[in-house]
Amino acid sequence: MKRASIVSIGNELLSGQTVDTNAAYLSENMLTIGIPVVSSYTVGDDTDSIIRSFNLASSDADLVLATGGLGPTDDNLTRQAFANFLGTELQLQKELLQKIQDFFDSRNRRMSAKNKIQAYIPAGAKALANNLGTAPGIMADVEGKLLIALPGVPSEMRKMFEESVLPELHGLAGRQAIVIRKLRCFGTGESNIAELLGPLMERGRKPLINCTAKHGVITLHIIATAKDKTQAQQMAEKDEDLLRNILGELVYGTGDQTLGEVVGEELAQQKKTISVAESCTGGYLAKLLTDIPGASRYFTHGWITYSNSAKTSELGVPPDLIEEYGAVSYRIAQAMAQGAKKRAAATFAIGITGIAGPTGGSERKPAGLVYISIDSDNRCETKRFVFSGGRDTIRLRAAQTALNMLRLKLWD
Ligand code: AMP
Ligand code: MG
Repeated sequence: MKRASIVSIGNELLSGQTVDTNAAYLSENMLTIGIPVVSSYTVGDDTDSIIRSFNLASSDADLVLATGGLGPTDDNLTRQAFANFLGTELQLQKELLQKIQDFFDSRNRRMSAKNKIQAYIPAGAKALANNLGTAPGIMADVEGKLLIALPGVPSEMRKMFEESVLPELHGLAGRQAIVIRKLRCFGTGESNIAELLGPLMERGRKPLINCTAKHGVITLHIIATAKDKTQAQQMAEKDEDLLRNILGELVYGTGDQTLGEVVGEELAQQKKTISVAESCTGGYLAKLLTDIPGASRYFTHGWITYSNSAKTSELGVPPDLIEEYGAVSYRIAQAMAQGAKKRAAATFAIGITGIAGPTGGSERKPAGLVYISIDSDNRCETKRFVFSGGRDTIRLRAAQTALNMLRLKLWD
């Protein structure tokens, strides 16, 4: 099986100023073409360190993918390190220089002398075109190993990877294939999912099932490895059916689908509309719903009624109800949803009220307490939750949970 190693280059990665999203992107994409990443190195902008990491990476793997350090400023040393590693010199490539010049001309910008360095490529290596920026990539075969250096800017790196690198790699991967299916779940924790799946999640099982969690969304990765794509696909599909049978309504989608997307698509298909009245989430729910292009098909209104008086004047929540139960209560969430539904004349309205924290909680009403209510023509459903985590987590969890309640209502 062919293997890959990643080298991420840049002082900003070591200082924590920039999060290494390039490595994550490359790892995921390499897996999908059947070449697993077996190691990953992060080094600063230092020629010796870069050469050392190239040596380590190329002894781990058949393919080395490096990103960063190709910029025009003096702190970028990947180009020189690449040449030293190959034991050659940098050579000016006239066509590259012209391309960089054209890049600036087409934008009516003056090319600085510094950019000329980007037209230098180690002798014997090949330049990879950069259609978004000025830094070309570099590719070379070294004693049967492929070494590729890509720009650090994530959008440029991705475009170059997809357009220039992937076509080269399919040949390297041969018929070995990995198919990954992702099932997105919401409504329970990781440990409960692991319990439900039992031996299916055992290490060494084929396909391998991995689980990741983010903002309450549990993603199950079904990783099927086989000698060809068709077989891997069949294995993954079989497992997907198995997992869906066990997990039922906990599975809300596949791939990279968000709850907002799934709910939005369902609303559009059912020709239904939604409005939202938010307090502690401060518009988060409206954002998740309107993140999707075409949301105007189903999203009508959003209110952020943070103060008691706004709840009354905007949504008609009776002041004495707030006085009696408090703004964070079952009754107020319900009244907010009902008020929004009436004013928006939408099929559904969601009311959210809670304590996002970290301050403002009490023993009876702790930080993280959130009431979510969904009003529809036939009934109003209200639930109480206590979310844990910081302010941001609580707010996002609350908004996601509201979407999930709506999803289950739409699927009913
Ligand atoms: P460079 O090619 O080193 O000039 O990188 C240009 C910019 O890309 C840097 O300033 C970072 O903001 C970004 N960058 C570089 N490497 C990475 C990485 N591994 N992940 C995410 N962003 C990166
Ligand atoms: Mg850099």
